[in-house]
Amino acid sequence: MKPYVLIVEDEESLATLLQYNLDKEAFRVAVATDGEEALLMIDEGAPDLVVLDWMLPKVSGVEVCRRLRARPETRNLPIIMLTARGEESDRIRGLDTGADDYIVKPFSMSELAARIRAVLRRIRPGLAEDNIRHGDLVIDRAAHRVRRGAREVRLGPTEFRLLDYLMQHPGRVFSREQLLDAVWGSDVYVEARTVDVHIGRLRKALNDGFEDDPIRTVRSAGYSLDVEAA
Ligand code: CA
Repeated sequence: MKPYVLIVEDEESLATLLQYNLDKEAFRVAVATDGEEALLMIDEGAPDLVVLDWMLPKVSGVEVCRRLRARPETRNLPIIMLTARGEESDRIRGLDTGADDYIVKPFSMSELAARIRAVLRRIRPGLAEDNIRHGDLVIDRAAHRVRRGAREVRLGPTEFRLLDYLMQHPGRVFSREQLLDAVWGSDVYVEARTVDVHIGRLRKALNDGFEDDPIRTVRSAGYSLDVEAA
Protein backbone atom coordinates (compact mmCIF):
# COMPACT_ATOMS: atom_id res chain seq x y z
CA MET A 1 0.00 0.00 0.00
CA LYS A 2 1.49 3.36 -0.96
CA PRO A 3 1.82 5.86 1.89
CA TYR A 4 -0.79 8.58 1.53
CA VAL A 5 0.75 12.07 1.68
CA LEU A 6 -1.38 15.22 1.90
CA ILE A 7 0.29 18.35 0.56
CA VAL A 8 -1.04 21.62 1.94
CA GLU A 9 0.26 24.44 -0.22
CA ASP A 10 -1.52 27.48 -1.63
CA GLU A 11 1.07 28.24 -4.32
CA GLU A 12 -0.42 26.38 -7.23
CA SER A 13 2.77 25.84 -9.22
CA LEU A 14 4.62 24.45 -6.21
CA ALA A 15 1.69 22.23 -5.24
CA THR A 16 1.55 20.79 -8.75
CA LEU A 17 5.29 20.19 -8.80
CA LEU A 18 5.17 18.47 -5.41
CA GLN A 19 2.25 16.31 -6.42
CA TYR A 20 3.90 15.24 -9.66
CA ASN A 21 7.20 14.38 -8.04
CA LEU A 22 5.89 12.61 -4.95
CA ASP A 23 3.57 10.59 -7.14
CA LYS A 24 6.64 9.46 -9.10
CA GLU A 25 8.30 8.53 -5.80
CA ALA A 26 5.48 6.03 -5.18
CA PHE A 27 3.42 8.01 -2.70
CA ARG A 28 -0.30 8.47 -3.02
CA VAL A 29 -0.73 12.24 -3.09
CA ALA A 30 -3.54 14.73 -2.57
CA VAL A 31 -3.40 18.53 -2.39
CA ALA A 32 -5.23 21.00 -0.15
CA THR A 33 -4.82 24.67 -0.98
CA ASP A 34 -5.69 26.22 2.38
CA GLY A 35 -5.74 25.28 6.05
CA GLU A 36 -9.48 24.80 6.24
CA GLU A 37 -9.54 22.39 3.32
CA ALA A 38 -6.56 20.55 4.82
CA LEU A 39 -8.42 19.90 8.09
CA LEU A 40 -11.44 18.62 6.19
CA MET A 41 -9.36 16.33 4.00
CA ILE A 42 -7.51 14.96 7.02
CA ASP A 43 -10.84 14.11 8.66
CA GLU A 44 -12.02 12.36 5.54
CA GLY A 45 -8.91 10.57 4.37
CA ALA A 46 -6.54 9.92 7.32
CA PRO A 47 -3.24 10.61 5.52
CA ASP A 48 -0.03 8.89 6.62
CA LEU A 49 1.87 12.18 6.53
CA VAL A 50 1.15 15.87 5.91
CA VAL A 51 3.48 18.27 4.11
CA LEU A 52 2.30 21.59 5.49
CA ASP A 53 3.18 25.04 4.21
CA TRP A 54 3.78 27.65 6.89
CA MET A 55 1.97 30.54 5.19
CA LEU A 56 -1.55 29.57 4.19
CA PRO A 57 -4.80 31.42 3.63
CA LYS A 58 -7.75 31.00 6.05
CA VAL A 59 -6.12 28.82 8.68
CA SER A 60 -2.31 29.16 8.90
CA GLY A 61 0.05 26.19 8.83
CA VAL A 62 0.95 26.67 12.47
CA GLU A 63 -2.70 26.73 13.46
CA VAL A 64 -3.41 23.56 11.42
CA CYS A 65 -0.49 21.90 13.18
CA ARG A 66 -1.71 23.02 16.58
CA ARG A 67 -5.23 21.76 15.96
CA LEU A 68 -3.99 18.40 14.70
CA ARG A 69 -1.85 17.96 17.79
CA ALA A 70 -4.76 18.84 20.07
CA ARG A 71 -6.95 15.98 18.82
CA PRO A 72 -6.31 12.40 19.91
CA GLU A 73 -6.95 10.91 16.47
CA THR A 74 -4.36 13.14 14.77
CA ARG A 75 -1.96 13.69 17.66
CA ASN A 76 0.66 11.41 16.13
CA LEU A 77 0.07 12.27 12.49
CA PRO A 78 3.52 12.99 10.98
CA ILE A 79 3.90 16.61 9.79
CA ILE A 80 6.69 18.16 7.74
CA MET A 81 6.54 21.97 7.63
CA LEU A 82 7.59 23.99 4.60
CA THR A 83 9.08 27.37 5.46
CA ALA A 84 10.60 30.18 3.42
CA ARG A 85 14.27 30.99 3.74
CA GLY A 86 15.00 33.32 6.60
CA GLU A 87 11.99 32.40 8.70
CA GLU A 88 14.38 31.07 11.31
CA SER A 89 12.24 31.89 14.30
CA ASP A 90 9.21 30.50 12.44
CA ARG A 91 11.01 27.24 11.98
CA ILE A 92 11.67 26.92 15.64
CA ARG A 93 8.07 27.80 16.38
CA GLY A 94 7.03 25.17 13.84
CA LEU A 95 8.83 22.49 15.78
CA ASP A 96 7.36 23.89 19.00
CA THR A 97 3.90 23.51 17.55
CA GLY A 98 4.62 19.86 17.05
CA ALA A 99 5.91 19.42 13.47
CA ASP A 100 8.16 16.37 13.10
CA ASP A 101 10.53 18.07 10.69
CA TYR A 102 10.78 21.16 8.54
CA ILE A 103 12.30 21.90 5.19
CA VAL A 104 13.35 25.32 3.87
CA LYS A 105 12.23 26.59 0.47
CA PRO A 106 13.64 26.23 -2.12
CA PHE A 107 14.38 22.53 -1.70
CA SER A 108 15.00 19.67 -4.09
CA MET A 109 12.29 17.08 -4.63
CA SER A 110 14.66 14.26 -3.78
CA GLU A 111 15.45 15.95 -0.46
CA LEU A 112 11.77 16.24 0.41
CA ALA A 113 11.13 12.60 -0.55
CA ALA A 114 14.06 11.52 1.61
CA ARG A 115 12.76 13.54 4.56
CA ILE A 116 9.29 12.05 4.14
CA ARG A 117 10.73 8.54 4.15
CA ALA A 118 12.86 9.30 7.19
CA VAL A 119 9.88 10.64 9.18
CA LEU A 120 7.70 7.69 8.14
CA ARG A 121 10.43 5.21 9.04
CA ARG A 122 10.80 6.79 12.45
CA ILE A 123 7.10 6.98 13.19
CA ARG A 124 5.61 4.08 11.27
CA PRO A 125 8.40 1.64 10.57
CA GLY A 126 6.47 -0.65 8.23
CA LEU A 127 5.14 2.06 6.01
CA ALA A 128 8.14 3.50 4.23
CA GLU A 129 9.97 0.30 3.46
CA ASP A 130 9.80 -1.25 0.02
CA ASN A 131 10.39 -4.71 1.44
CA ILE A 132 8.91 -6.12 4.61
CA ARG A 133 10.11 -9.44 5.87
CA HIS A 134 8.44 -11.67 8.40
CA GLY A 135 9.73 -15.16 8.94
CA ASP A 136 9.90 -16.74 5.49
CA LEU A 137 7.52 -14.16 4.01
CA VAL A 138 8.79 -11.21 2.00
CA ILE A 139 6.56 -8.57 0.49
CA ASP A 140 8.07 -6.31 -2.16
CA ARG A 141 5.76 -3.35 -2.37
CA ALA A 142 7.48 -1.55 -5.22
CA ALA A 143 7.24 -4.60 -7.47
CA HIS A 144 3.94 -5.82 -5.92
CA ARG A 145 5.36 -9.27 -5.33
CA VAL A 146 5.26 -11.72 -2.48
CA ARG A 147 7.58 -14.60 -1.77
CA ARG A 148 7.37 -17.34 0.80
CA GLY A 149 10.74 -19.00 1.12
CA ALA A 150 11.92 -19.52 -2.45
CA ARG A 151 8.41 -19.66 -3.85
CA GLU A 152 6.69 -16.75 -5.53
CA VAL A 153 3.14 -16.30 -4.23
CA ARG A 154 0.51 -14.94 -6.59
CA LEU A 155 -2.07 -12.75 -4.89
CA GLY A 156 -5.01 -10.72 -6.06
CA PRO A 157 -4.93 -6.98 -5.24
CA THR A 158 -7.14 -7.29 -2.14
CA GLU A 159 -5.16 -10.21 -0.74
CA PHE A 160 -1.97 -8.25 -1.40
CA ARG A 161 -3.24 -5.24 0.56
CA LEU A 162 -4.47 -7.46 3.37
CA LEU A 163 -1.11 -9.17 3.71
CA ASP A 164 0.70 -5.84 3.44
CA TYR A 165 -1.38 -4.40 6.26
CA LEU A 166 -0.94 -7.43 8.51
CA MET A 167 2.82 -7.42 7.85
CA GLN A 168 3.06 -3.80 8.92
CA HIS A 169 1.70 -4.78 12.33
CA PRO A 170 2.97 -8.27 13.13
CA GLY A 171 1.30 -9.81 16.16
CA ARG A 172 -1.45 -7.26 16.41
CA VAL A 173 -4.99 -8.59 16.28
CA PHE A 174 -7.38 -6.79 13.96
CA SER A 175 -11.13 -7.14 13.95
CA ARG A 176 -12.92 -7.65 10.65
CA GLU A 177 -14.19 -4.07 10.86
CA GLN A 178 -10.69 -2.70 11.36
CA LEU A 179 -9.42 -4.68 8.38
CA LEU A 180 -12.33 -3.45 6.27
CA ASP A 181 -11.49 0.16 7.14
CA ALA A 182 -7.79 -0.24 6.51
CA VAL A 183 -7.86 -2.36 3.38
CA TRP A 184 -11.17 -1.58 1.68
CA GLY A 185 -11.59 1.97 3.00
CA SER A 186 -14.15 3.29 5.46
CA ASP A 187 -16.42 4.73 2.78
CA VAL A 188 -17.00 1.40 1.08
CA TYR A 189 -19.86 -0.77 2.23
CA VAL A 190 -18.68 -4.36 2.44
CA GLU A 191 -19.94 -7.08 4.75
CA ALA A 192 -17.58 -8.20 7.49
CA ARG A 193 -17.84 -11.74 6.16
CA THR A 194 -16.03 -10.58 3.00
CA VAL A 195 -12.88 -10.32 5.10
CA ASP A 196 -13.12 -14.03 5.91
CA VAL A 197 -13.40 -14.87 2.23
CA HIS A 198 -10.27 -12.90 1.36
CA ILE A 199 -8.33 -14.22 4.35
CA GLY A 200 -9.25 -17.69 3.11
CA ARG A 201 -7.85 -16.93 -0.34
CA LEU A 202 -4.75 -15.35 1.13
CA ARG A 203 -4.13 -18.45 3.28
CA LYS A 204 -4.63 -20.79 0.35
CA ALA A 205 -2.09 -18.88 -1.74
CA LEU A 206 0.45 -18.53 1.06
CA ASN A 207 0.25 -22.01 2.48
CA ASP A 208 0.38 -24.07 -0.68
CA GLY A 209 3.23 -26.49 -0.01
CA PHE A 210 3.80 -25.33 3.57
CA GLU A 211 2.76 -26.86 6.87
CA ASP A 212 2.37 -23.84 9.09
CA ASP A 213 -0.05 -20.98 8.60
CA PRO A 214 1.36 -17.48 9.19
CA ILE A 215 -2.11 -16.04 9.73
CA ARG A 216 -3.73 -16.62 13.07
CA THR A 217 -7.49 -16.61 13.62
CA VAL A 218 -8.33 -15.19 17.00
CA ARG A 219 -11.75 -16.48 17.96
CA SER A 220 -14.40 -13.74 18.14
CA ALA A 221 -11.69 -11.09 17.77
CA GLY A 222 -10.26 -11.27 14.28
CA TYR A 223 -6.95 -12.00 12.59
CA SER A 224 -3.28 -11.35 13.06
CA LEU A 225 0.07 -12.19 11.56
CA ASP A 226 1.45 -14.91 13.78
CA VAL A 227 4.70 -13.82 15.41
CA GLU A 228 5.25 -17.23 16.99
CA ALA A 229 5.46 -18.88 13.60
CA ALA A 230 8.14 -16.47 12.34
CA1 CA B 1 2.12 29.63 1.13
